[in-house]
Amino acid sequence: MVMVEAKHLTKTYQAHGNPVKAADNINLEIEKGEYAAICGQSGAGKSTLMHLLGGLDEPDSGEVIIDGISFYALDKKQKAIFRRKKIGFVFQTFHLLPYLSVWENIILPLSLDHREAELPFLEHILNTLGLEEKKNSLPEELSGGQQQRAAIARAFITRPSILIADEPTGNLDSRSGKNVMDLLKKSHEIYGQTLLVVTHNEQIANEADRIIRISDGKILGGGS
Ligand code: ADP
Repeated sequence: MVMVEAKHLTKTYQAHGNPVKAADNINLEIEKGEYAAICGQSGAGKSTLMHLLGGLDEPDSGEVIIDGISFYALDKKQKAIFRRKKIGFVFQTFHLLPYLSVWENIILPLSLDHREAELPFLEHILNTLGLEEKKNSLPEELSGGQQQRAAIARAFITRPSILIADEPTGNLDSRSGKNVMDLLKKSHEIYGQTLLVVTHNEQIANEADRIIRISDGKILGGGS
């Protein structure tokens, strides 16, 4: 079963008056429960593709179908709700809100939908991620690795069927990076999540079920 599908996706940016095709007629199918790595050099279009697949950025043309729904055909409010329920995001920069505690940051996606956190599940996540003792701390009181784990906990809290991670280890030392990747893989295995990881790290990419290579906004290999 296909979980995420891209059809003829294009996105062009203007850079100093010149058009840059960041996504150039991308066609892609990602199966439910698959772990795919998206690889390519800096500027290849990895983040653009991730944002388009995760519903964070509007394509110029083409379609993204997530779990059978044509995402960009939804209205703004439907998009926000659908995205929060279906997709968990982990970014290179952790995007934790500095004035909220770790706990408050983690449950934020639920609060936005007026949903209560299931406490046993939340405790389980905090324990698994080694954040139990930091739950009342502010993000600035955490190390980089701990902040990324808090960001992962926030991505896990809604039990998303798709987890999208854009260079999740980019700001971490190699040991914290390995821990973070182990956690993402564990969650993908336990919960059967579809996992998409953008990386330029070949070691990380080699652990995925499939490597999708992109260059100049085009898929070079692994697209379907
Ligand atoms: P990657 O993630 O592989 O480094 P990106 O998707 O960030 O690549 O960028 C692909 C291309 O699109 C690059 O040439 C980049 O400079 C350009 N680009 C990305 N975002 C913008 C933007 N907001 N404005 C102008 N150009 C952009």
